[in-house]
Amino acid sequence: MTPRRVLLKLSGEFLAGGRGFGVAPDATQALAKEIAAAVDRGDQLAVVVGAGNFWRGAQHGGSMDPATADYVGMLATVMNAVALQDALEQRGIHTRVQSAISMQEVAEPYIRRRALRHLEKGRVVIFGGGTGNPFFTTDTAAALRALEIDADMVLMAKSRVDGVYSDDPHRNPDAVRYERLSYLDVLNRGLEVMDATAISLCMDRGMPITVFDIFTEGNLVRLLAGDRIGTRISAEAEKTFAS
Ligand code: UDP
Repeated sequence: MTPRRVLLKLSGEFLAGGRGFGVAPDATQALAKEIAAAVDRGDQLAVVVGAGNFWRGAQHGGSMDPATADYVGMLATVMNAVALQDALEQRGIHTRVQSAISMQEVAEPYIRRRALRHLEKGRVVIFGGGTGNPFFTTDTAAALRALEIDADMVLMAKSRVDGVYSDDPHRNPDAVRYERLSYLDVLNRGLEVMDATAISLCMDRGMPITVFDIFTEGNLVRLLAGDRIGTRISAEAEKTFAS
C-alpha cells in the first residue's frame, strides 16, 4: 500500500483543552497519540498548528498596529509547534519543527526540500510561523504547505464536530451533515471550514480537504485507512449523508 502524505491543520485552541488558554498537557498528549498512531501506520504527516490558544492578531488590531499583532500570532504558533513536538517525542515519534520565521535555536528554517526529505524518512514535520506573512492565517499556511509538499489531502481537524453541517448541529436538530461539498459550496454559503483565502488556494490547485473530528479516538487512522469519515471538499458536487 502506498503511504499517504497528508497535511494536518490543528487549531491552537486544541492544545489548550478545557482551559481555553495556553497548553494543557492532556489535550496535547491526546493529539500526539492520534498523530503517532497515523505515523505507525506508515503514513507521512506534516502538521500546521495555529495559535488561537495564545493570540489572534485580529483581536489586537484595534489597539496595535495590525501587522505587528499578526507577527505576535506567528511567534505564538512556534510555541505550539514546539509543545506538540515535545508530546510526540515523548511517544518516540521523530519530528522536526520548521518555522517560517527564523529562530534557529528552536526550529529549523522552512526549507521545502528538507521538509520533503524528513517526510520520506518518516518524521513528522511541524510547520510553525504560519506563512511568515501578516494578514494571513494558519489555514492558508496549511493550504500553502500542503501544495508545496505535494500532499494528497489537507485534513482540517475539528474538535467534537464530525464534519460540516448545514447549520449548527448543537442548536438545530434538523442540521444535516455533508458527506461531500464542492469548494464553491463552501465559499458561497460561508460555511465554517477554513477561511476563504485558504479554500480558494485549494480550489485553484484541486487540493482535496477533509473536515473531521480529531478528538474521536482512532478517527485520524480510520480516515487515512480510507473510511468515509467527516466531510470531503473537492470539485465534486454536494452530497449529504443519508439519515
Ligand atoms: N498569522 C499570520 N500569518 C500567518 C499565520 C498566522 O499573521 O500566515 C497570525 C494571525 O495573527 C493569526 C495568528 O497568527 O490570528 C494565529 O493563527 P490562527 O488565527 O490561524 O490560529 P488558529 O485559529 O488556527 O489557532
